[in-house]
Amino acid sequence: MLMREGHPGYFAYVPGNSLYPSAIGDFLAAAFNPYALVNYACPAAVEMQHSLIRWVARLFGYPESCAGNLTSGGTVGNLIAMATARDEKKLQAKDYHSCVVYLSELTHDGIEKVLHTIGMGEAVIRKIPVTERFGMDPEKLAEAVEKDTQEGLIPFAIAATTGTTDVGSVDPIDELADVAERHGVWLHVDACYGGFFVLCDSVKHLFKGVERADSFTCDPHKGLFVPFGAGLVLVRNWQQLLTSNRRNPVSTLQDRPSFSRHLNPEDLTFEQSTHFRAVRVWLPLQVFGVGTFRAALQEKLYLSRYLYHKLKAVPGLFVLEPQLSIVLFRYEAVPGQQGCYEAEFNLRLLGQVCRDGQVFLASTTVLGQLYLRACVFAFRTHREHVDTLVASLRNGLKELLG
Ligand SMILES: *Cc1c(COP(=O)(O)O)cnc(C)c1O
Repeated sequence: MLMREGHPGYFAYVPGNSLYPSAIGDFLAAAFNPYALVNYACPAAVEMQHSLIRWVARLFGYPESCAGNLTSGGTVGNLIAMATARDEKKLQAKDYHSCVVYLSELTHDGIEKVLHTIGMGEAVIRKIPVTERFGMDPEKLAEAVEKDTQEGLIPFAIAATTGTTDVGSVDPIDELADVAERHGVWLHVDACYGGFFVLCDSVKHLFKGVERADSFTCDPHKGLFVPFGAGLVLVRNWQQLLTSNRRNPVSTLQDRPSFSRHLNPEDLTFEQSTHFRAVRVWLPLQVFGVGTFRAALQEKLYLSRYLYHKLKAVPGLFVLEPQLSIVLFRYEAVPGQQGCYEAEFNLRLLGQVCRDGQVFLASTTVLGQLYLRACVFAFRTHREHVDTLVASLRNGLKELLG
């Protein structure tokens, strides 16, 4: 099976996209090759980056005291955030094995990868159960933090998610922030998939509390449809981000101006030379306007609900109601008896749906249960493509059931 990112029938994983103004932005960045990480090398590039970051901060109601950076993707953003948390808590290698990181059962596996990379692979991982809406359970979190404290462990960080990759579920950030504040635990929010839905009035309330997080990440290469290679990290207190990343410059840089009106992006990340990333995000926003992105994202939300209702009307299908733009479903052998299904039958159904190449979906396993999963996220996906998905599914069922 071939994957074609950007195809309107692509509903698997998190569909990638591409925007031609981003390609032009990349062309300009490569042609002029400004060094975008220090202000005195190219103030315009630095200003463009800062203005993008300020715009994202404002979308979430993040305070002016924040600072952030553009990264190659969400995982690197999560890495910078977790490293900042580690440094802010002044943790040392000898402490790592008693540090506890709280995830939910649906946290992206990239967080554990990042902990390994920053040397904290020995930290204790607590997977906090989710509620029936698949959000991290704040009461269970509080219990776990209290227990760990009593046992002499160091509750270090909570990695919450606004828009899990599996289900599109949103953790109750406001309530998690209460727990984090009460116990002095770093709260990080991974908004890589779901973050830019904050632009849409119908779901904006789901992001309440992100403004209280110590750090968060989101991915323009997901929610703003730009090509792969654009993530973003924000840390609430700019000094923490600076302290974690700034080192004395090597001697070849000793005579550069030390501080300007702006923080130098170079001092806010572990990266050094990178291409001029901001322009591939900034240019499409200028060309199309924010309203176009808002409308496209709102359309994905509507299409997901449309898909949900269409699938519910198919006899035998059990469908989970989407919170953002991901719909999970499966065929259940005994109608009405939830949870009674054959995994093997559903995988064959998946094969049937994808067989003629008009649509592409994938399966997932959530809390031990298999589902077929449709993520509506390609900006080219419109109602007719969702109709094609539903028709392929109905045909597939007909073939398999005879
Ligand atoms: C995609 C995703 C990531 C990883 O981001 P990359 O940009 O692929 O590095 C992390 N967390 C969530 C919730 C995601 O959806």
